[in-house]
Parts: sequence; C-alpha cells; structure tokens
Amino acid sequence: MGELTLAGKAALVTGGSRGIGAAIVRRLAAEGADVAFTYVSAAGEAKAKDVVADVEALGRRAVALQADAADADAVTGAVDRAAAELGGLDILVNNAGVFPSGPLEDVTREELERTLAIHVSAAFLAAQSAVRHLPEGGRIISIGSNLAERVPFPGIALYAMSKAALSGLTRGLARELGPRGITANVVHPGPTDTDMNPSDSASADFLRGLMSLGRYLDPDDVAAQVLHLAGPGGRNITGTAITVDSGTNA
Ligand code: NDP
Repeated sequence: MGELTLAGKAALVTGGSRGIGAAIVRRLAAEGADVAFTYVSAAGEAKAKDVVADVEALGRRAVALQADAADADAVTGAVDRAAAELGGLDILVNNAGVFPSGPLEDVTREELERTLAIHVSAAFLAAQSAVRHLPEGGRIISIGSNLAERVPFPGIALYAMSKAALSGLTRGLARELGPRGITANVVHPGPTDTDMNPSDSASADFLRGLMSLGRYLDPDDVAAQVLHLAGPGGRNITGTAITVDSGTNA
C-alpha cells in the first residue's frame, strides 16, 4: 500500500453529517486526514456520531461541531475551533447546503436571505477565517451544483443564483491566495442520491432523463473529485470548476 496522500493534514467540512459531506469526511480520513465537520439539526447530531465513529475506526481524529451556516459567528467560530482542536487547518470544504425550489413568486424574503447566507456568505466567511490558518499548499474546495452552469427546468432561480456565486468566489480566492500557494476550486455535482435528492423520488426519473449517462451520482463520486483536488494531484488546479453530473450539462 502506498503512503496516504493526506497524512498529517487537518480538514474542515461544513455539513458533514449526511450525504455528500459525510462521504467527503470519510474519504479525507481514509487518506490520512484528521477531520472536523459541522451539522445543524438534531437529526444531524445523531448522524454525526456515526461519521465520527467511522473516522475514528480509520485511526484518525474527528470533531463534530454544531454550527448553523446561516449564522456568521457560528461559521467563523467553527473554523477557529476546528483549527484549535486539530492543531491547524489545511483543507476547507464548503459543502453545507439546502435546496429551495418552487415558483419565483412563492420565494419568501426569509428563504432568499437564508439561502444566500448558507450558500454564499458562509462560504465567503469560512474562507476568510480559514486563510488565517491555511499554510502553503492549503486547499479551499466548495460544493456548487451543475445548476450553477445550466438551468434545465424552472423553479430553481434562487438555488442556481446562490450556487453560481461560488464560481466568482472561487476565481477571486484563486487570484488572491495563489501567491501563498493556496488553491481554490468548486466541484459542481449533478443529481446525487442523498436525503436532498433521493434517487427514488418523484422527480428522479425526470432528472435521469436529462443525464447523458442516465444514472444518479453516489455521494462518493463527488467525494472522489474533492479528494483529487485536496491531494497532490490538485497542486496546480486553481480557480476552476469540476462538473460531476453524469453528463447532465453536456
Ligand atoms: P443533504 O441534505 O443530504 O445534507 C446536507 C448537509 O448539510 C447535512 O450535513 C446538513 O446538516 C448540512 N446543513 C444543511 N443546512 C445547514 C446549515 N444551515 N448549517 C450547517 N449545516 C447545514 O444534502 P447533500 O449531501 O445532497 O448536499 C450537499 C451539498 O451538495 C449541498 O451544498 C447541495 O446544494 C450540493 N448539491 C447536492 C446535489 C444533490 O443532488 N444531492 C446536487 C448538486 C449539489 P444536518 O444533518 O444537521 O441537517
């Protein structure tokens, strides 16, 4: 067996209790990283225990932090706590997310503000806090959506807008942090089988019909791309996007 590519690294994944985030936490730990992750709900707290147990079974450290991504102080606090508990921070993954959908006229101000807080402000604030800890070789990876690049059905203007913002953030961070040897990238998943988008939901066959490959992603398909960017192979990839969407946007 070769050397683990992330041995000695410390990572923070927002929204790591379930779905794509949990797959990322497990993959980072399997490659040797110690991992902190956030969650928000009581259900998330229960799931977080399973994720912690899996990471510890791999011989790595796990830190589960309750931190609402809609709360700016909670976001910056989680970054600092992760760095304090793990003795530093090398990798930030902005993953926590929600899926508001429905007709434009039904979107409330509260939903607008909360979505932008979770998808946009939290990613910005977490990056801003993380750069105080990230060394040369540090990584910032955000989970966007293929819907940031193309919008093939109605009812998701808010979601698409909020995820598109991560592309601008990523390019800006890449320029600003490049001189310090820190990379920033966004991974755009397509429909992925999680609680947010179960592969047996009423809309799943419609979504499958949009895909070149006709199959849902597994959370691990997304985690594999995050691993690539986080590891040595991602050294010279910055300011760009990897779309992992079974060819939905082809
Ligand atoms: P899930 O709903 O399965 O999991 C969401 C995760 O984010 C949970 O860990 C949840 O914590 C956490 N979370 C949600 N809101 C907050 C908040 N306010 N503060 C902190 N944590 C929060 O979603 P997915 O795994 O499917 O999605 C992960 C990311 O991938 C999201 O950004 C999503 O937009 C994106 N994505 C998903 C796609 C899909 O088809 N599934 C496609 C494209 C992008 P808790 O368990 O406590 O609720």
